[in-house]
This record gives sequence, structure tokens and C-alpha cells, in this order.
Amino acid sequence: MPMVELGDATRRHVREAVAAGLKIAVVPLGATEQHGEALPFRTDTLIAEEVAADLAGRLDALLVPAVSYGVSLEHMSIPGTVTLSATTFTSVVREICESLISGGINQIILLVAHFGNAAPAQIAAEEVVSNTGAIVCVSSYFAGMEEATLEVLGVDSHLLDWTYFNSHGGAAEAAMVMARDTGLVRVDWAQSASPELSNLFYDEAMKYPHAVEEATPTGQWGDPRRISPAIDLAVDGELGRRLIEACGQRLAAKFRLLVEEIGRSHSEAPE
Ligand SMILES: [Zn+2]
Repeated sequence: MPMVELGDATRRHVREAVAAGLKIAVVPLGATEQHGEALPFRTDTLIAEEVAADLAGRLDALLVPAVSYGVSLEHMSIPGTVTLSATTFTSVVREICESLISGGINQIILLVAHFGNAAPAQIAAEEVVSNTGAIVCVSSYFAGMEEATLEVLGVDSHLLDWTYFNSHGGAAEAAMVMARDTGLVRVDWAQSASPELSNLFYDEAMKYPHAVEEATPTGQWGDPRRISPAIDLAVDGELGRRLIEACGQRLAAKFRLLVEEIGRSHSEAPE
């Protein structure tokens, strides 16, 4: 059974897929927020869609249309940014999960491509898991991607400045947007900014939910034209495609392992 793209499917597609055993859904959670001068407002939505599509293909899953608005409070000083409150976003995600479950899905992957969505998505997942017993996972898709990225780039680990590369409006996001459409990235308008101050604010031991302008004058970090100060390789759609595929491969393996372990722990549970 191949994956089913819910937005393009008819009720017959879904009915037949569920009858044939479809039980996994992937939900891309994006945002509509500024990404500096060069990257579009739908950067996170687009990346969430691309990674979710790759992942759904590997898992023969239902690919659900993306949530294009997230919790983007830190970017609200920049016109064009649209935010939901954390309460609203949590409800949206929870109710999407509940709808899918009522339609026969019992394993859901929430694919988070924007930092501000992670905490509310986690709360929604916890609520749905405890209320329904379904398996709902939250994936911050690029977490732990250093090793796979080094492989994709073919460079030594000491050359890659990870936060510079993997930052809001930086090269990783630019490449993945370019994988969809190179013209969406305005390379001629690109700027660069050090992620140093933001690294301080994002310290898990003492985190400060700052407004973007407190940490960077350009609204982004890193450089959409440059992977790392010491790496002179092209930032292009081909790099983006390879990163998306590496993510999908890694997440599919992790999800399969997780479901297997959950199944084992359930079968071993005392009656
Ligand atoms: Zn982003």
C-alpha cells in the first residue's frame, strides 16, 4: 500500500487504504513567520511538508495537509508574521489528532519544523496519548542530524559550525526551501548574523524566550549563502533534497523501532 496524500485523495482512497491496513499519519506543523531578508514566510511550512512527504512515503502513511500557522510570538515585531496563541495551537493539533484517530488512524507523527511549535505540540501529544491510547510522537525533525549532515556534505566534523548551519534563516533552511523551488530564496538579498547571542538565550539550563530583534538585527542567524565559515560548498536545492531524504530515512527508522518497542512492552505487560 503506497502513501496517501490526504489533500489530493477522495473518500474512496481513504476508505480503501484504511481497509487495507493504513494506520500511520504524518502531520506537518509549519509557521508563517519572517525568516530574514532572503527566505520566505512559509519556510517552515514548506520544510515540514517536504520532510513529512519523504517520511510518509517510507512508512506508507497518510500525509495530512500542513498546519501553516504556528506559535511565532518572537517574530511579531516583523510585519507579515502571523501567530496563533500556544493555547489555540495546542487545541488545533489535539483536534487534528482526534479527527484522524476517529477515522481509523492509531499512530501519528507530528512533524515540527518551527521551534515555537515544539512545546505546544508536545502538550497536545501527551493529552491525546493519555486520552486515546494512540501512539502520537513529536519530531523536531532536524534534531541530532549532525552526523547525517556530515555524511551528506562529506566534510570533517571540526569544519561544521552546527548552530551557524542549522539556524533560523540559515543555510540548512535555505537549501531545503530551494529543494522545492530555487526561486523562493532571494540570495541577492541575503545577510549573515552570528548565532552567539541566541545560543546564550536558548541554553536549556536558563532559557529566555526573547524577541528575535534582541538576538539578531537581521531576523535570522547564520547565512543562507554559506554552510559554515570554514566550508565552501554550494547551498542549493540538491543539498536540500539530500538533507530532506536523510531526515526522512532517519525518522522512519526511529519510528519503526519505537513502535516495535512499544508493542513489545505492551505484550510483556502483566495482565
Ligand atoms: Zn525556520
